[in-house]
Amino acid sequence: MSVTSRALLLFSLLAAAPAQAEWLARSVDGIMGTRIYVEIWTEDRAQGEAAIDAVMDEMRHIDETMSTYKPTSEVSKVNALAATQPVPISRELFDLLGTAAEYSRITHGAFDITYASVGYMYNFREHKRPTEGQIQAALPAVNYRHVLLDAKTHSVRFSQPGVRIDLGGIAKGYSVDRGIEILRARGYTHALVNAGGDSRVIGDRFGRPWVVGIRHPDHPDQVITRIPLVDAAFSTSGDYERYFDENGVRYHHIIDPHTGHSASKVRSATVIAPTATRTDGLSKTAFVLGPDEAMKIYNQLDDVDAVLVTPDGRILYSKGLQPGEAPSAAPAAPAAPAAAAAPAGAAPPDAAPPATVH
Ligand code: ADP
Ligand code: MG
Repeated sequence: MSVTSRALLLFSLLAAAPAQAEWLARSVDGIMGTRIYVEIWTEDRAQGEAAIDAVMDEMRHIDETMSTYKPTSEVSKVNALAATQPVPISRELFDLLGTAAEYSRITHGAFDITYASVGYMYNFREHKRPTEGQIQAALPAVNYRHVLLDAKTHSVRFSQPGVRIDLGGIAKGYSVDRGIEILRARGYTHALVNAGGDSRVIGDRFGRPWVVGIRHPDHPDQVITRIPLVDAAFSTSGDYERYFDENGVRYHHIIDPHTGHSASKVRSATVIAPTATRTDGLSKTAFVLGPDEAMKIYNQLDDVDAVLVTPDGRILYSKGLQPGEAPSAAPAAPAAPAAAAAPAGAAPPDAAPPATVH
């Protein structure tokens, strides 16, 4: 090779190496009632910012469509009308209602968007809860089978009066998946998207996994276990997210569809799976069914793993995560706390060796 062509080769190698590749991160408060966090590895800052803009726009769109706090949303329209007439809805909402029904079936009714028929009477910020009489009167309307989808007309109808739906248990996971799809379509191969308790990562964090810390239910700063993740989604549900305590009883935002009361059979549940819609749809189950029955369901699903914290403080792992068996049992990385605060759970440079969760 001549000196010139060697010089040219060297030049083209240098040119190929991104001049200013960097991690770009942004968090925005107040979308879907939570904080959205996006982190990407980008070779072009302007393009990276535009990609994050697109993710945030998508999150706002989903909020506009699916929030029950917005009277103009599609879901609010469905709640107002579907007991009296079929309501034509967007393909997006139609498909997500179908997915929600699938998770109701998988979880034997523990996940149920009609929980809202009772759930709307709770206000955790204002320490308000329904009386037993109100719960009993509303309870017959809680049943996912009351939501009738018609694929021909893309419409939804409720089979009886009093039914309300709320997608608070699945829309954030869905929005995270949409965010990831947007980033993938733009070619990003290392990224994290987080919305409240729901997160998903693309790729690893430069040869090392992303590391998620699961927080102690009573001590936000204490990490009880850490899980390395590559190309995976995870959701953590906890009884410490939205709640109030009254006379020694904790009233919190995960509702048992069978009783209309807060579901308290575990303190927290973290589910790991390929998509955040899936992890979100499955993370409420253990609160309602209890750790044993929920773990049976998680273990039967090949692509799902889970970590549960029981009321007496035990930490239970699904088959694929049994300490000592999974590569994730490698010495714990000094990750920052809280799966709920996924960005802080990202691995620092000296984190655990590469590992995938299976
Ligand atoms: P986050 O909102 O932080 O992602 P979770 O994933 O734990 O938290 O979802 C909790 C939300 O799920 C509640 O605020 C409520 O909107 C909804 N929800 C509560 N109980 C149920 C249930 N049994 N089935 C489906 N959704 C539920
Ligand atoms: Mg969630």
